[in-house]
Amino acid sequence: MKAIEIAGGGLAGLSLGIALRRHGVPVVLREASCYPRHRVCGEFINGVTEDTLDRLGITAIFHDALRHHATRWWMKDRKILEAPLTRPALGMSRWEMDDRLRIEFETSGGVLITNARAKPEPREGLVWAAGRHLEKSSTLLGLKAHFEGLELEGFLEMHIGEGTYIGLTPITADGSRVNVCGLFQKGPRTKGVNPIVDALRRSGLPALAERVDRAQMDSFSLTGISGFHLGKQGTQSELCTLGDAERMIPPFTGNGMSMAFESADCAKPHLLGYCRGDLSWPEVLCEVRRSLDDRFQARVRLALGLHRCLTSSMGRAALSAAAVSGVLPFSWLHRRLS
Ligand SMILES: Cc1cc2nc3c(=O)[nH]c(=O)nc-3n(C[C@H](O)[C@H](O)[C@H](O)COP(=O)(O)OP(=O)(O)OC[C@H]3O[C@@H](n4cnc5c(N)ncnc54)[C@H](O)[C@@H]3O)c2cc1C
Repeated sequence: MKAIEIAGGGLAGLSLGIALRRHGVPVVLREASCYPRHRVCGEFINGVTEDTLDRLGITAIFHDALRHHATRWWMKDRKILEAPLTRPALGMSRWEMDDRLRIEFETSGGVLITNARAKPEPREGLVWAAGRHLEKSSTLLGLKAHFEGLELEGFLEMHIGEGTYIGLTPITADGSRVNVCGLFQKGPRTKGVNPIVDALRRSGLPALAERVDRAQMDSFSLTGISGFHLGKQGTQSELCTLGDAERMIPPFTGNGMSMAFESADCAKPHLLGYCRGDLSWPEVLCEVRRSLDDRFQARVRLALGLHRCLTSSMGRAALSAAAVSGVLPFSWLHRRLS
């Protein structure tokens, strides 16, 4: 059996590693950082199915995950939508999720090397799951932290500001701990002000900024990322890329983590074919790319269109009017985006 080397121990890399180990494939995974750690993420998963988790062998990891059933959306201070989710979203902190996957991978016999940065050199047997492609000119800024003292009444909240959106997600069953995560535009920082509160004020969301400012932030959980863009990534085409390294769906969908798992699920049969000697590496590259396009192209295109609406004033006005008058096909969109 040929071996597989994985670069990147996020959700795509670890879940693929676990799935391959279940078939006896020798797997070495190099991760640039270590575990556990906080990640910029809204920490709810829209769309992933039991079947996908089963095929990857990671269902048990989510046995106690929260199940979110409904969402509320605000445009600035105006509530524009309250709707059930067509399928419950799973909730778990990345601190917990990534570490559980790490333990499962190592227990299954995978070799994990942490604090090891791999190089994107295309070669047979290398899977690139190292996350988003760096784009220095991007103006996007992702920020997240955990807070206590924010009441969500059991809903996932989404707040739309100027060129920005922010999600509030319960991450404990009693709702006492809440994830606040936003996609902002970079701008001048106000010294001495909590960066999330500062970004909310800059985005024309003063009421939400005050609400978040009154809550207690766990400073250790505060994380930020910049230098990324949404959609297809510019990673070298000769690499076998999965998850965010291949394409990034706009975060308002809460579907990026599902896509990371789904991409591992798509790649698994082709990689097994290679390990067993049935497929050449160029055939694997071709098949994996085709199955990722089949699965994600339409979904990501729709999400990028909606992202453009959410971040432009005309688009926001149109979406808001449609939501308030009840003609926004939320359930249809939710199904198409997950
Ligand atoms: C603001 C924001 C909010 C989001 N909220 C949500 C949400 O609520 N729900 C959702 O489903 N998705 C959300 N996402 C998207 C989601 O976080 C990602 O889609 C998901 O983490 C992708 O998983 P991955 O394994 O592809 O990449 P990652 O989880 O990013 O993992 C990549 C790993 O590779 C490592 N690495 C990087 N370079 C190297 C290297 N050279 N060598 C070795 N290792 C390397 C990194 O350290 C990292 O551990 C959000 C994204 C953003 C930006």
